[in-house]
Amino acid sequence: MSTIAAMTIISEQLAAIVGPAGVITDVESMKPYLSDWRGNYTGLAIAIVRPANTTEVAAIVKICAQTSTPIVPQGGNTGLVGGGIPDRQGNAIVVSLSRMNRIRNIDTENNTITVEAGVVLQALQDAAAAAGRFFPLSLAAEGSCTIGGNLSTNAGGTAVLRYGNTRDLALGLEVVTPAGDIWDGLKGLRKDNTGYDLKHCFIGAEGTLGIITAAVLKLFPRPLSTVTAFVAVASPAAAVALLDALRNAVGDRLVAFELVSRICLDLVLRHFPATLEPFAKCHAWYVLIELNDTQRGAPLQDMLEKELERALEQGSIIDAVIAASAAQSQSLWKLREDISEAQRLEGKNVKHDISVPISRIPGFLAKCDAALINAFPDILLVCFGHVGDGNLHYNCGLPSNGLNNVDRINRIVYDHVDEFGGSISAEHGLGQLKRDEITHHKTTIEMNMMRALKRALDPAGIMNPGKVL
Ligand code: FAD
Repeated sequence: MSTIAAMTIISEQLAAIVGPAGVITDVESMKPYLSDWRGNYTGLAIAIVRPANTTEVAAIVKICAQTSTPIVPQGGNTGLVGGGIPDRQGNAIVVSLSRMNRIRNIDTENNTITVEAGVVLQALQDAAAAAGRFFPLSLAAEGSCTIGGNLSTNAGGTAVLRYGNTRDLALGLEVVTPAGDIWDGLKGLRKDNTGYDLKHCFIGAEGTLGIITAAVLKLFPRPLSTVTAFVAVASPAAAVALLDALRNAVGDRLVAFELVSRICLDLVLRHFPATLEPFAKCHAWYVLIELNDTQRGAPLQDMLEKELERALEQGSIIDAVIAASAAQSQSLWKLREDISEAQRLEGKNVKHDISVPISRIPGFLAKCDAALINAFPDILLVCFGHVGDGNLHYNCGLPSNGLNNVDRINRIVYDHVDEFGGSISAEHGLGQLKRDEITHHKTTIEMNMMRALKRALDPAGIMNPGKVL
C-alpha cells in the first residue's frame, strides 16, 4: 500500500472516532498547529485530531500504536522549545487537547479542582476565583496555554517563590499511555506513599511518555492584600541578601522577587514611551518585590518599609518606591513584564533560560559576564528574571557578526552554568531546541535512566519522537 493510501486510511479511522469535525487534514487549516509561537519550528502532519474526551484519546492512541504512527500532543501551542510541533517527515498526527476543556469538579473543603487537560490556564484561575479560591500558576501566556501543557512542561511563572512549579500544584493525573490504556490517577490526596509516585513521570515529560487528559490540582485561599515595590540595589549580591532578609522577615508573604538590570530598564523605556523612569537617578540593578496576604488590610506595607529601611541603613539598597495604588503596582510590574517584548523590538538576541542556586547568582553573573565581554566586547547582556527561584533570563544581544557566533555564546554561557551547578533549562523544557545540548550536561547515568524510562513506557517510541531524548 502507498504511503498516501496508508495515511488516508489512518485519517478515516481517526474520523470514525472523533467525527469528521474533529479531524483537520486541510493544509491551510492545519498551519496554526504546525508552527510555534516564535516561528522557529514548522512541521508536517497527516492530520490534526481534536478528541472530545478521554475515551476518544485512548482510541486514537490505540490506532497509532497499531500503525506505528507518531503522536505529538499539543495544548495551547505556546511552548518555547518546539516540543508541540511535529518534525518534517509528515507521518505524525498532532493530538490537540483543546476541545477537552471541562472543569470536572471543585471540592472547596479538599481545596482541589479537577480539570481536563485542554482547560486554558486563565479559565482555570477564573473557575477557582468563582469558587472563592486561588489557583496561583500565572505566566504571560495564560490566556492561551493549557493546564495539560503547563503540566507537561512543569511550567514556572511568577509565583513559584511562594507556591512552587506546576509539579508542586498537582495531586493527581489521568493519562492515556502509549499503549492506549487509561490510567486513572485522579486522587486528590496530599499523602499517598504507595510506591513510585507515577504522576511525576508524566509531569515535565513534554508529551514523550503519554497524553495527560485530566488533573487534580491544589487550590489556595485568595490573597486579599498586596504590596508592590521597585527597589534600586547596589549589586546582584545585595539583591540576594535582601531576598534572604525579606524571607526571614515576612515568610510566605513574599510572592515575587524579580531582578532587573539597567539595560533591561533602558530597553523598556526606549520601546514603551508611556513607561516612566522609577527614580531620579539611574542605577545598575533593581528588584521588583511583591508581598501578599490572605487577611484583608494586612500591614504588608509596614513590614516591607521596615525591612527596606534596614537595608538602606546597611547600604545594600539605594532607593525604593512602594506602589500607593493598584494602578501604580501595575506600572511597576510593566517595567518587568515588557522586557521580553522590548528586547524583541530591539533586534535579534540569543536567549538563555537558566538556573543556578540562588546563593551562586552573583558569582555566576560576575564570571560569565566577564567571559562574554572578553570574547565579544560589543555584546549586550540583558539579564532579568526570577531571582527568588535562582532562574535568570540571560539574553545576549548579538555582537557584530552575531549570527555566526551563537554557538560560541551558548558554549560560554552553558559552561558557566555547569561550573556553578545550574540547569540549561529552568522553565521552558528541552523540546527540540535543547535535545542535543542536554547530553553535554547530564551524566551518562542520568541519560540512561531517562532512556530506560522512555523504553519502559513507550517501547515503540511513538510518543512525541525527537523531543527531550
Ligand atoms: P504546548 O506548547 O501546546 O506544548 C508544550 C509541550 O507539552 C509539548 O511538548 C507538548 O507535546 C506537550 N503537551 C501539551 N499538552 C499535553 C498533554 N495534554 N499531554 C502531554 N503532553 C502535552 N513558561 C514558563 O514555564 N514560565 C513562564 O513564565 C512562561 N512565560 C511565557 C510567556 C510567553 C509570552 C510565552 C509564549 C510562553 C511562555 N512560557 C512560559 C512557555 C509556555 O507558555 C509554557 O511552556 C506552557 O506551559 C505551555 O503550555 P501549552 O498548553 O501552550 O503547551
